[in-house]
Amino acid sequence: MGAYWVKTPHWLKRLLPNELIWDIKNENHNTVYITFDDGPHPLATKFAIEQLEHYDAHATFFCVGENVSKYPEVYQQILDKGNNTGNHTYNHLNGWKTPNHVYINNIDKASKFIKSNLFRPPYGRIKLSQLRKLKHNYPEIKICMWDILSGDFDNKITPQQCAENVLQNLKPGSIIIFHDSEKSFERMKYALPQVLEYCKVNGLKMSSLPS
Ligand SMILES: [Zn+2]
Repeated sequence: MGAYWVKTPHWLKRLLPNELIWDIKNENHNTVYITFDDGPHPLATKFAIEQLEHYDAHATFFCVGENVSKYPEVYQQILDKGNNTGNHTYNHLNGWKTPNHVYINNIDKASKFIKSNLFRPPYGRIKLSQLRKLKHNYPEIKICMWDILSGDFDNKITPQQCAENVLQNLKPGSIIIFHDSEKSFERMKYALPQVLEYCKVNGLKMSSLPS
């Protein structure tokens, strides 16, 4: 993993196509949006679901189609607990490195398992031509980026640093990314409860992304 921004800079948000959703301004100004990428995973996803339930929070899980086909019962638990899901392609493809027809077909394949109009491109990498094609094929699609990257995937940072990444940047409207995956679990399982606790104490509502 190369360098990454914990906090997405404003100039970058403005530079990129305005179809991309980076944060959500709601009228009450009291809601944050926690999201998880790359699941479902038997250990990490179940942990996340339990924590969310404990804090009366809901989140959005951007699932990899292949993982949904492996763990359909974990996928169903996400929904049963009142969370929602989004499409994250079938094989976690990098749009920049994938021909358009292959990329779109992979999303179509995932859509058989994941019934949602929310989509997040793996690695945040999608070509403008792919974005246009998706908008054409799925007029209702919402392409959800993020405001804060926890860095839980980064094994060079500590679980504490991962929590700090989120807590130092969190504000109403933020879309936060964690990962419900094997390699992120050590950091996610420490940082997620910290973030949930912080939001609860500070009166921030934790909701699924509007679909
Ligand atoms: Zn991903």
